[in-house]
Amino acid sequence: MKRIAIDMDDVLADAEGRFFELAKLRYGLDINPIDLHDKTWAQAANVPHEEIWAWLFEEDFFRKMKVKPHSQEVVKKLSNKYEIFIVSAAVEFPQSMKEKLDWLHEFFPFIDWKYVVFCGHKYMIKADYLIDDHQKNLATFTGKPILYSAYHNKNVKGYTRVEDWKEVEKLLL
Ligand SMILES: [Mg+2]
Repeated sequence: MKRIAIDMDDVLADAEGRFFELAKLRYGLDINPIDLHDKTWAQAANVPHEEIWAWLFEEDFFRKMKVKPHSQEVVKKLSNKYEIFIVSAAVEFPQSMKEKLDWLHEFFPFIDWKYVVFCGHKYMIKADYLIDDHQKNLATFTGKPILYSAYHNKNVKGYTRVEDWKEVEKLLL
């Protein structure tokens, strides 16, 4: 079986949606997704970096992310044909690891814990495909990199890009 490594934030979990939700709740801001092109969340919200950074250490920040449409059914189908690993750079945010495990258990109960990798760097990950929203992770990947579209990466070029999970299905199944 070929192996697919799948990122979590902005691939399986709607991290940008969580940012929009909290920007509205805490600052009353309606962020236009276009404002995220080539910008950090702090730049898009026009608040100090440290304020947004602190969100990532808050209880429930990761746990309450919504699951991306069709990701559950497509990952399930992929798991019949490929070996699936979830690979998330979660170690920087220690409390996120428990929340991410709980989140995976809720939304992807068919993925065994032995197939979940929490890391920092991803350059040592060996797989045939990596589906990720960050160029920094795809650039060093030795298999076939697949860029999962997010508002922040709209201007990234040079990768096979998928807009949603239906496109992943078409590409890999
Ligand atoms: Mg990500």
